[in-house]
Amino acid sequence: MSLEIKRLHLASLRGVDGREWPVHGFVVTHPGGAALVDTGVGGPAQLLSDWRVVNRTVADALADLDMTPGDIGLVINTHLHFDHCGQNAVFPHAACYVQRAELQRAERESPELYAWFDFMNARFELLDGDAEVLPGLAVITTPGHTAGHQSVVVQSSDAAPDVLIGDAAYTPRQYLRPASDHLPPGQASDPAAWRDSLRRIRSAGPARVHFCHHTDVIHA
Ligand SMILES: [Zn+2]
Repeated sequence: MSLEIKRLHLASLRGVDGREWPVHGFVVTHPGGAALVDTGVGGPAQLLSDWRVVNRTVADALADLDMTPGDIGLVINTHLHFDHCGQNAVFPHAACYVQRAELQRAERESPELYAWFDFMNARFELLDGDAEVLPGLAVITTPGHTAGHQSVVVQSSDAAPDVLIGDAAYTPRQYLRPASDHLPPGQASDPAAWRDSLRRIRSAGPARVHFCHHTDVIHA
């Protein structure tokens, strides 16, 4: 089985440390097509202005890979923050895999984003825990950043897997030193659950860890 990970640059924004951060999504190609992990930035204009977003359309980012939105067969949202699910509506043909707990959290906490993820005809595949989405492509629950956060595990061969960590860690620094560091604002809504989730990811023994807001890839 051959799965391949291709990183998209979807936007830049002013991160919680005041520096410019990238916003990455990931295409995972598989023998039957392609999946997209996180869809980039969308939301009310005020929100984009507050975060000083320099946005790209996900269609433009896919064009860099000679792909179109129609090539994406399914979407996985690590969580439903505006910079991870903002362009879900570009993929009305694709089922959207998200934790049920995360959809409930977002409906409760972010009603202003509702139209961006729960657009008319949105097709959710609501998950209650770890799940295999396709052979070699799975999600594991990693709550703590948000209550229903999940990370994506890509097993492309018998070797150790790749992890698309989502916002379970913003940067390699938070991933590598979760206990000793002062946490950046927004990193953990529940610090205890957040640390447990990083332990979980480590116990999966990933060969590589890919971040949404940092371009470095950790190699084990
Ligand atoms: Zn987030």
